[in-house]
Amino acid sequence: MRFQNTISFARKLDQVDPLKSFRSKFHLPKILGKETLYFTGNSLGLQPKSTLKFITDELEDWAQLGVEGHFDAKRPWLHYHKFSKKALAQIVGAKPIEVVAMNQLTVNLHLMMTSFYRPTAKRFKIITEAGAFSSDQYAFETQLKFHKLDPKVALVELQPRPGELTLRTEDIIKSIEAHSEELALVIFGAVQYYTGQFFDIKKITDAGHKAGAYVGFDLAHAVGNVPLSLHKHNVDFAVWCSYKYLNSGPGGIGGIFVHQKHATNFDLPRLAGWWGHDVQERFQMRKGFKPMSGADGWQLSNFPVLSGAAQLASLDIFQQAGIKNLRKKSILLTGYLEFLLKMVDPDGKHFSIITPSNPKDRGCQLSILMKQHGRKIFDKLMKARVLADWREPDVIRITPVPLYNRFVEVFRFSEIFKRALS
Ligand SMILES: *Cc1c(COP(=O)(O)O)cnc(C)c1O
Repeated sequence: MRFQNTISFARKLDQVDPLKSFRSKFHLPKILGKETLYFTGNSLGLQPKSTLKFITDELEDWAQLGVEGHFDAKRPWLHYHKFSKKALAQIVGAKPIEVVAMNQLTVNLHLMMTSFYRPTAKRFKIITEAGAFSSDQYAFETQLKFHKLDPKVALVELQPRPGELTLRTEDIIKSIEAHSEELALVIFGAVQYYTGQFFDIKKITDAGHKAGAYVGFDLAHAVGNVPLSLHKHNVDFAVWCSYKYLNSGPGGIGGIFVHQKHATNFDLPRLAGWWGHDVQERFQMRKGFKPMSGADGWQLSNFPVLSGAAQLASLDIFQQAGIKNLRKKSILLTGYLEFLLKMVDPDGKHFSIITPSNPKDRGCQLSILMKQHGRKIFDKLMKARVLADWREPDVIRITPVPLYNRFVEVFRFSEIFKRALS
Protein backbone atom coordinates (compact mmCIF):
# COMPACT_ATOMS: atom_id res chain seq x y z
CA MET A 1 0.00 0.00 0.00
CA ARG A 2 1.15 3.56 -0.73
CA PHE A 3 0.88 5.40 2.57
CA GLN A 4 0.25 9.12 2.96
CA ASN A 5 1.41 11.42 5.70
CA THR A 6 -1.97 13.00 6.47
CA ILE A 7 -4.54 12.60 9.19
CA SER A 8 -7.27 12.14 6.59
CA PHE A 9 -5.40 9.16 5.14
CA ALA A 10 -5.02 7.67 8.64
CA ARG A 11 -8.74 8.18 9.22
CA LYS A 12 -9.53 6.43 5.98
CA LEU A 13 -7.45 3.43 7.01
CA ASP A 14 -9.40 3.27 10.27
CA GLN A 15 -12.71 3.49 8.44
CA VAL A 16 -11.97 0.53 6.20
CA ASP A 17 -10.31 -1.51 8.97
CA PRO A 18 -12.33 -4.76 9.29
CA LEU A 19 -11.17 -5.08 12.94
CA LYS A 20 -12.04 -1.52 13.98
CA SER A 21 -14.87 -2.64 16.28
CA PHE A 22 -12.48 -4.59 18.54
CA ARG A 23 -11.05 -1.46 20.16
CA SER A 24 -14.35 -0.95 21.99
CA LYS A 25 -13.91 -4.32 23.71
CA PHE A 26 -11.00 -2.92 25.78
CA HIS A 27 -10.55 -0.49 28.62
CA LEU A 28 -8.31 2.33 27.39
CA PRO A 29 -6.05 3.79 30.09
CA LYS A 30 -6.26 7.49 30.86
CA ILE A 31 -3.88 9.92 32.51
CA LEU A 32 -5.60 12.52 34.72
CA GLY A 33 -8.86 11.76 32.93
CA LYS A 34 -7.38 12.37 29.49
CA GLU A 35 -6.93 9.99 26.58
CA THR A 36 -3.53 8.40 26.05
CA LEU A 37 -1.72 6.89 23.12
CA TYR A 38 -1.12 3.36 24.40
CA PHE A 39 1.80 1.76 22.60
CA THR A 40 2.96 -0.69 25.26
CA GLY A 41 0.81 -3.70 24.50
CA ASN A 42 4.11 -5.58 24.17
CA SER A 43 4.68 -5.02 27.86
CA LEU A 44 1.18 -5.20 29.32
CA GLY A 45 -1.79 -5.82 27.05
CA LEU A 46 -4.99 -3.91 27.78
CA GLN A 47 -7.86 -5.27 29.80
CA PRO A 48 -10.82 -6.64 27.86
CA LYS A 49 -14.09 -5.32 29.26
CA SER A 50 -15.30 -8.93 29.38
CA THR A 51 -12.55 -9.93 31.85
CA LEU A 52 -14.62 -8.69 34.78
CA LYS A 53 -17.49 -11.03 33.91
CA PHE A 54 -15.23 -14.06 33.40
CA ILE A 55 -13.64 -13.53 36.82
CA THR A 56 -16.89 -12.64 38.51
CA ASP A 57 -18.43 -15.89 37.24
CA GLU A 58 -15.78 -17.84 39.10
CA LEU A 59 -16.07 -15.73 42.25
CA GLU A 60 -19.83 -16.33 42.25
CA ASP A 61 -19.43 -20.05 41.73
CA TRP A 62 -16.90 -20.15 44.54
CA ALA A 63 -19.27 -18.22 46.81
CA GLN A 64 -22.25 -20.44 45.91
CA LEU A 65 -20.63 -23.82 45.60
CA GLY A 66 -17.45 -23.82 47.67
CA VAL A 67 -15.42 -26.92 46.96
CA GLU A 68 -18.15 -28.38 44.75
CA GLY A 69 -17.20 -25.79 42.16
CA HIS A 70 -14.48 -28.22 41.10
CA PHE A 71 -17.29 -30.26 39.51
CA ASP A 72 -20.37 -28.05 39.38
CA ALA A 73 -19.09 -24.61 38.40
CA LYS A 74 -20.23 -23.31 35.03
CA ARG A 75 -16.68 -24.10 33.91
CA PRO A 76 -15.70 -26.88 36.32
CA TRP A 77 -12.39 -25.97 37.96
CA LEU A 78 -11.12 -29.52 37.76
CA HIS A 79 -10.97 -29.23 33.97
CA TYR A 80 -10.02 -25.60 33.73
CA HIS A 81 -6.73 -26.20 31.90
CA LYS A 82 -8.73 -27.68 29.02
CA PHE A 83 -10.80 -24.59 28.30
CA SER A 84 -7.95 -22.55 26.85
CA LYS A 85 -6.38 -25.35 24.82
CA LYS A 86 -8.12 -24.86 21.51
CA ALA A 87 -7.48 -21.12 21.32
CA LEU A 88 -3.88 -21.40 22.51
CA ALA A 89 -3.24 -24.20 20.01
CA GLN A 90 -4.52 -21.99 17.18
CA ILE A 91 -2.45 -19.04 18.30
CA VAL A 92 0.85 -20.96 18.41
CA GLY A 93 0.08 -23.30 15.50
CA ALA A 94 -0.17 -26.49 17.52
CA LYS A 95 -2.44 -29.43 18.27
CA PRO A 96 -4.42 -29.15 21.49
CA ILE A 97 -2.44 -32.00 23.06
CA GLU A 98 0.75 -29.96 22.55
CA VAL A 99 -0.22 -26.95 24.67
CA VAL A 100 -1.29 -26.18 28.19
CA ALA A 101 -1.62 -23.02 30.26
CA MET A 102 0.34 -23.27 33.50
CA ASN A 103 2.66 -21.37 35.85
CA GLN A 104 4.56 -18.42 34.49
CA LEU A 105 7.13 -18.04 31.82
CA THR A 106 10.39 -18.38 33.74
CA VAL A 107 9.11 -21.35 35.75
CA ASN A 108 8.09 -23.01 32.51
CA LEU A 109 11.45 -22.29 30.96
CA HIS A 110 13.15 -24.12 33.84
CA LEU A 111 10.72 -27.03 33.59
CA MET A 112 11.28 -27.35 29.85
CA MET A 113 15.04 -27.13 30.24
CA THR A 114 14.87 -29.88 32.85
CA SER A 115 13.46 -32.12 30.14
CA PHE A 116 15.20 -30.82 27.04
CA TYR A 117 18.57 -29.65 28.24
CA ARG A 118 20.35 -32.89 29.08
CA PRO A 119 24.05 -32.10 28.81
CA THR A 120 26.59 -34.91 28.44
CA ALA A 121 30.37 -34.76 28.59
CA LYS A 122 30.41 -34.36 24.82
CA ARG A 123 27.19 -32.44 24.16
CA PHE A 124 26.60 -29.62 26.58
CA LYS A 125 26.41 -26.28 24.76
CA ILE A 126 23.44 -23.93 24.53
CA ILE A 127 23.15 -21.47 21.64
CA THR A 128 21.03 -18.38 22.08
CA GLU A 129 20.90 -14.75 20.96
CA ALA A 130 23.14 -12.25 22.77
CA GLY A 131 21.21 -9.81 24.93
CA ALA A 132 18.34 -12.17 25.69
CA PHE A 133 15.78 -10.99 28.25
CA SER A 134 17.36 -10.98 31.72
CA SER A 135 15.13 -13.68 33.15
CA ASP A 136 16.07 -16.04 30.32
CA GLN A 137 19.74 -15.25 30.82
CA TYR A 138 19.44 -16.08 34.51
CA ALA A 139 17.65 -19.31 33.67
CA PHE A 140 20.39 -20.35 31.22
CA GLU A 141 23.17 -19.40 33.61
CA THR A 142 21.71 -21.22 36.59
CA GLN A 143 20.72 -24.30 34.58
CA LEU A 144 24.32 -24.56 33.45
CA LYS A 145 25.61 -24.15 36.98
CA PHE A 146 23.06 -26.70 38.17
CA HIS A 147 24.74 -29.15 35.79
CA LYS A 148 28.16 -28.01 37.05
CA LEU A 149 29.01 -26.32 33.77
CA ASP A 150 30.72 -22.99 33.20
CA PRO A 151 28.45 -20.52 31.35
CA LYS A 152 31.54 -18.91 29.79
CA VAL A 153 32.26 -22.17 28.01
CA ALA A 154 28.87 -23.73 27.56
CA LEU A 155 26.68 -20.72 26.67
CA VAL A 156 27.16 -19.45 23.13
CA GLU A 157 25.54 -16.02 22.65
CA LEU A 158 25.27 -14.87 19.06
CA GLN A 159 26.00 -11.23 18.26
CA PRO A 160 25.05 -9.38 15.07
CA ARG A 161 27.91 -8.66 12.66
CA PRO A 162 29.93 -5.54 13.45
CA GLY A 163 27.95 -2.51 12.34
CA GLU A 164 24.69 -4.49 12.15
CA LEU A 165 21.84 -4.42 14.63
CA THR A 166 20.10 -7.75 14.16
CA LEU A 167 21.19 -11.31 13.49
CA ARG A 168 21.25 -12.84 10.03
CA THR A 169 19.64 -16.26 9.77
CA GLU A 170 22.59 -17.54 7.74
CA ASP A 171 24.95 -16.58 10.59
CA ILE A 172 22.77 -18.32 13.16
CA ILE A 173 22.82 -21.48 11.07
CA LYS A 174 26.59 -21.27 10.57
CA SER A 175 27.12 -21.04 14.33
CA ILE A 176 24.85 -23.99 14.93
CA GLU A 177 26.86 -25.99 12.42
CA ALA A 178 30.14 -24.84 13.89
CA HIS A 179 29.16 -26.05 17.37
CA SER A 180 27.20 -29.08 16.20
CA GLU A 181 29.42 -31.71 17.85
CA GLU A 182 28.94 -30.16 21.28
CA LEU A 183 25.49 -28.68 20.94
CA ALA A 184 22.71 -29.80 23.31
CA LEU A 185 20.12 -27.02 22.98
CA VAL A 186 19.22 -24.15 20.66
CA ILE A 187 16.92 -21.62 22.28
CA PHE A 188 15.86 -18.21 20.96
CA GLY A 189 13.33 -15.56 21.83
CA ALA A 190 11.06 -16.02 18.80
CA VAL A 191 10.58 -12.25 18.68
CA GLN A 192 13.56 -10.59 20.34
CA TYR A 193 12.26 -8.32 23.09
CA TYR A 194 14.79 -5.52 22.51
CA THR A 195 15.17 -5.41 18.74
CA GLY A 196 11.75 -6.74 17.76
CA GLN A 197 13.39 -9.19 15.33
CA PHE A 198 11.22 -12.20 14.48
CA PHE A 199 13.60 -15.09 13.95
CA ASP A 200 13.15 -17.73 11.27
CA ILE A 201 11.76 -20.51 13.44
CA LYS A 202 11.72 -23.14 10.73
CA LYS A 203 15.30 -22.63 9.58
CA ILE A 204 16.68 -22.43 13.10
CA THR A 205 14.79 -25.53 14.14
CA ASP A 206 15.94 -27.52 11.11
CA ALA A 207 19.54 -26.49 11.69
CA GLY A 208 19.38 -27.36 15.39
CA HIS A 209 17.94 -30.78 14.69
CA LYS A 210 20.49 -31.45 11.98
CA ALA A 211 23.15 -30.74 14.59
CA GLY A 212 21.54 -33.26 16.93
CA ALA A 213 20.22 -30.72 19.45
CA TYR A 214 16.80 -29.95 20.86
CA VAL A 215 15.27 -26.64 19.81
CA GLY A 216 13.03 -24.42 21.92
CA PHE A 217 11.63 -20.89 21.72
CA ASP A 218 10.61 -18.26 24.22
CA LEU A 219 7.41 -16.81 22.77
CA ALA A 220 6.99 -13.95 25.28
CA HIS A 221 6.94 -11.35 22.48
CA ALA A 222 5.65 -13.65 19.75
CA VAL A 223 2.49 -15.23 21.13
CA GLY A 224 -0.57 -13.29 19.98
CA ASN A 225 1.71 -11.09 17.88
CA VAL A 226 3.02 -13.06 14.91
CA PRO A 227 1.78 -16.20 13.12
CA LEU A 228 3.35 -19.34 14.53
CA SER A 229 3.43 -22.93 13.25
CA LEU A 230 5.23 -24.72 16.05
CA HIS A 231 3.86 -28.15 15.18
CA LYS A 232 4.63 -27.94 11.49
CA HIS A 233 8.05 -26.46 12.11
CA ASN A 234 8.84 -29.34 14.40
CA VAL A 235 9.89 -27.18 17.35
CA ASP A 236 10.55 -29.35 20.44
CA PHE A 237 9.21 -26.98 23.06
CA ALA A 238 8.16 -23.39 23.69
CA VAL A 239 7.15 -21.25 26.65
CA TRP A 240 5.27 -17.98 26.96
CA CYS A 241 3.67 -15.47 29.26
CA SER A 242 0.19 -14.12 28.62
CA TYR A 243 0.17 -10.58 29.95
CA LYS A 244 1.80 -9.04 26.88
CA TYR A 245 0.00 -9.49 23.56
CA LEU A 246 -2.38 -12.03 25.10
CA ASN A 247 -4.02 -9.44 27.37
CA SER A 248 -4.49 -11.84 30.29
CA GLY A 249 -3.62 -9.37 33.02
CA PRO A 250 -0.52 -8.54 35.09
CA GLY A 251 1.32 -11.70 36.08
CA GLY A 252 -1.20 -13.72 34.07
CA ILE A 253 -0.85 -17.44 33.54
CA GLY A 254 1.94 -18.67 31.25
CA GLY A 255 1.97 -21.65 28.96
CA ILE A 256 4.01 -24.35 27.26
CA PHE A 257 4.17 -26.17 23.96
CA VAL A 258 5.67 -29.66 23.76
CA HIS A 259 5.71 -31.23 20.31
CA GLN A 260 3.47 -34.24 19.76
CA LYS A 261 6.50 -36.39 19.02
CA HIS A 262 7.37 -36.13 22.74
CA ALA A 263 3.79 -36.62 23.92
CA THR A 264 4.32 -40.16 25.17
CA ASN A 265 8.05 -40.02 25.70
CA PHE A 266 7.87 -40.72 29.42
CA ASP A 267 11.62 -41.32 29.55
CA LEU A 268 12.25 -37.59 29.32
CA PRO A 269 13.27 -36.51 32.79
CA ARG A 270 10.84 -34.08 34.34
CA LEU A 271 9.96 -32.45 37.61
CA ALA A 272 6.48 -33.61 38.48
CA GLY A 273 3.40 -32.66 40.44
CA TRP A 274 -0.04 -34.16 40.91
CA TRP A 275 -1.72 -32.13 38.15
CA GLY A 276 0.54 -33.81 35.60
CA HIS A 277 -0.39 -37.26 36.89
CA ASP A 278 -2.72 -39.62 35.01
CA VAL A 279 -6.09 -37.97 35.50
CA GLN A 280 -7.89 -41.29 36.14
CA GLU A 281 -5.73 -41.89 39.21
CA ARG A 282 -4.99 -38.37 40.33
CA PHE A 283 -7.07 -38.50 43.46
CA GLN A 284 -6.02 -41.97 44.55
CA MET A 285 -2.88 -40.33 45.95
CA ARG A 286 -0.80 -43.39 45.18
CA LYS A 287 2.95 -43.72 44.92
CA GLY A 288 4.61 -43.62 41.51
CA PHE A 289 4.25 -40.74 39.09
CA LYS A 290 2.44 -41.58 35.84
CA PRO A 291 2.50 -38.56 33.54
CA MET A 292 -0.43 -37.67 31.33
CA SER A 293 0.50 -37.68 27.68
CA GLY A 294 1.22 -34.43 25.93
CA ALA A 295 1.91 -31.05 27.45
CA ASP A 296 -0.51 -31.80 30.30
CA GLY A 297 2.03 -34.22 31.75
CA TRP A 298 4.26 -31.28 32.67
CA GLN A 299 1.65 -29.58 34.88
CA LEU A 300 2.58 -29.36 38.53
CA SER A 301 -0.17 -27.71 40.51
CA ASN A 302 -3.90 -27.38 40.38
CA PHE A 303 -5.06 -24.68 38.06
CA PRO A 304 -5.15 -20.97 39.08
CA VAL A 305 -8.76 -20.40 38.08
CA LEU A 306 -9.01 -16.62 38.51
CA SER A 307 -5.97 -16.01 36.39
CA GLY A 308 -7.18 -18.60 33.88
CA ALA A 309 -10.60 -16.93 33.73
CA ALA A 310 -8.97 -13.63 32.75
CA GLN A 311 -7.13 -15.47 30.01
CA LEU A 312 -10.35 -17.03 28.67
CA ALA A 313 -11.87 -13.56 28.26
CA SER A 314 -8.96 -12.51 26.09
CA LEU A 315 -8.74 -15.75 24.11
CA ASP A 316 -12.40 -15.37 23.27
CA ILE A 317 -11.56 -12.07 21.58
CA PHE A 318 -8.66 -13.61 19.70
CA GLN A 319 -11.00 -16.31 18.42
CA GLN A 320 -13.44 -13.69 17.17
CA ALA A 321 -10.76 -11.56 15.50
CA GLY A 322 -8.72 -14.39 14.01
CA ILE A 323 -4.95 -14.44 14.21
CA LYS A 324 -4.60 -14.14 10.41
CA ASN A 325 -6.73 -10.97 10.30
CA LEU A 326 -4.78 -9.54 13.20
CA ARG A 327 -1.51 -10.16 11.42
CA LYS A 328 -2.83 -8.54 8.26
CA LYS A 329 -3.76 -5.37 10.14
CA SER A 330 -0.57 -5.47 12.18
CA ILE A 331 1.59 -5.42 9.06
CA LEU A 332 -0.27 -2.33 7.84
CA LEU A 333 -0.29 -0.60 11.21
CA THR A 334 3.40 -1.10 11.94
CA GLY A 335 4.22 -0.40 8.30
CA TYR A 336 2.41 2.92 8.61
CA LEU A 337 4.35 3.74 11.77
CA GLU A 338 7.62 2.99 10.00
CA PHE A 339 6.62 5.12 7.00
CA LEU A 340 5.77 8.09 9.22
CA LEU A 341 8.92 7.73 11.31
CA LYS A 342 11.03 7.90 8.18
CA MET A 343 9.27 11.17 7.27
CA VAL A 344 10.00 12.57 10.71
CA ASP A 345 13.74 12.01 10.37
CA PRO A 346 14.52 11.45 6.69
CA ASP A 347 18.30 11.70 7.08
CA GLY A 348 18.49 9.48 10.15
CA LYS A 349 19.99 12.34 12.14
CA HIS A 350 18.01 11.72 15.31
CA PHE A 351 17.40 7.98 15.36
CA SER A 352 17.53 4.71 13.52
CA ILE A 353 15.03 1.88 13.62
CA ILE A 354 16.71 -1.31 14.82
CA THR A 355 13.79 -3.59 14.02
CA PRO A 356 14.08 -5.29 10.62
CA SER A 357 12.16 -3.48 7.90
CA ASN A 358 10.89 -6.62 6.19
CA PRO A 359 7.46 -7.31 7.77
CA LYS A 360 8.12 -11.04 7.78
CA ASP A 361 11.06 -10.45 10.14
CA ARG A 362 9.13 -8.51 12.77
CA GLY A 363 5.84 -8.25 14.65
CA CYS A 364 4.00 -5.18 15.94
CA GLN A 365 6.93 -3.51 17.67
CA LEU A 366 9.44 -1.02 16.33
CA SER A 367 12.54 -0.32 18.39
CA ILE A 368 13.90 3.16 17.86
CA LEU A 369 17.56 3.69 18.67
CA MET A 370 18.00 7.31 19.72
CA LYS A 371 21.26 8.92 18.67
CA GLN A 372 21.08 11.75 21.20
CA HIS A 373 18.94 12.96 24.12
CA GLY A 374 16.99 9.71 24.05
CA ARG A 375 15.77 9.85 27.63
CA LYS A 376 14.78 13.52 27.35
CA ILE A 377 12.75 12.88 24.23
CA PHE A 378 11.10 9.89 25.86
CA ASP A 379 10.11 12.06 28.82
CA LYS A 380 8.55 14.55 26.41
CA LEU A 381 6.51 11.73 24.90
CA MET A 382 5.30 10.73 28.34
CA LYS A 383 4.30 14.32 29.02
CA ALA A 384 2.22 14.24 25.84
CA ARG A 385 0.50 11.12 27.26
CA VAL A 386 2.21 8.67 24.94
CA LEU A 387 2.64 5.40 26.81
CA ALA A 388 5.76 3.97 25.24
CA ASP A 389 8.61 1.94 26.62
CA TRP A 390 12.15 3.00 27.43
CA ARG A 391 14.98 0.45 27.39
CA GLU A 392 18.39 1.47 28.65
CA PRO A 393 20.60 2.83 27.32
CA ASP A 394 18.93 4.42 24.32
CA VAL A 395 15.95 2.57 22.86
CA ILE A 396 12.29 3.60 22.67
CA ARG A 397 9.95 0.73 21.84
CA ILE A 398 6.66 1.64 20.14
CA THR A 399 4.10 -1.09 19.68
CA PRO A 400 0.83 -0.53 17.86
CA VAL A 401 -1.42 -3.51 18.57
CA PRO A 402 -4.02 -4.46 15.93
CA LEU A 403 -6.70 -5.39 18.47
CA TYR A 404 -7.01 -1.91 19.94
CA ASN A 405 -4.69 0.63 18.31
CA ARG A 406 -5.80 2.84 15.42
CA PHE A 407 -4.03 4.31 12.42
CA VAL A 408 -4.95 7.77 13.65
CA GLU A 409 -3.07 7.09 16.87
CA VAL A 410 0.01 6.14 14.92
CA PHE A 411 -0.31 9.37 12.97
CA ARG A 412 -0.72 11.43 16.15
CA PHE A 413 2.30 9.75 17.62
CA SER A 414 4.43 10.74 14.64
CA GLU A 415 3.40 14.38 15.11
CA ILE A 416 4.19 14.32 18.82
CA PHE A 417 7.50 12.59 18.17
CA LYS A 418 8.45 15.21 15.57
CA ARG A 419 7.75 17.99 18.05
CA ALA A 420 9.70 16.18 20.77
CA LEU A 421 12.75 15.97 18.51
CA SER A 422 12.86 19.67 17.73
C1 LIG B 1 8.37 -10.67 29.50
C2 LIG B 1 9.44 -11.67 29.39
C3 LIG B 1 9.75 -12.53 30.45
C4 LIG B 1 9.07 -12.41 31.78
O1 LIG B 1 9.12 -13.62 32.49
P1 LIG B 1 8.07 -13.93 33.66
O2 LIG B 1 8.49 -15.25 34.14
O3 LIG B 1 6.71 -13.91 33.01
O4 LIG B 1 8.18 -12.85 34.67
C5 LIG B 1 10.73 -13.48 30.25
N1 LIG B 1 11.37 -13.60 29.05
C6 LIG B 1 11.09 -12.79 28.00
C7 LIG B 1 11.81 -12.96 26.70
C8 LIG B 1 10.13 -11.80 28.15
O5 LIG B 1 9.88 -10.98 27.12
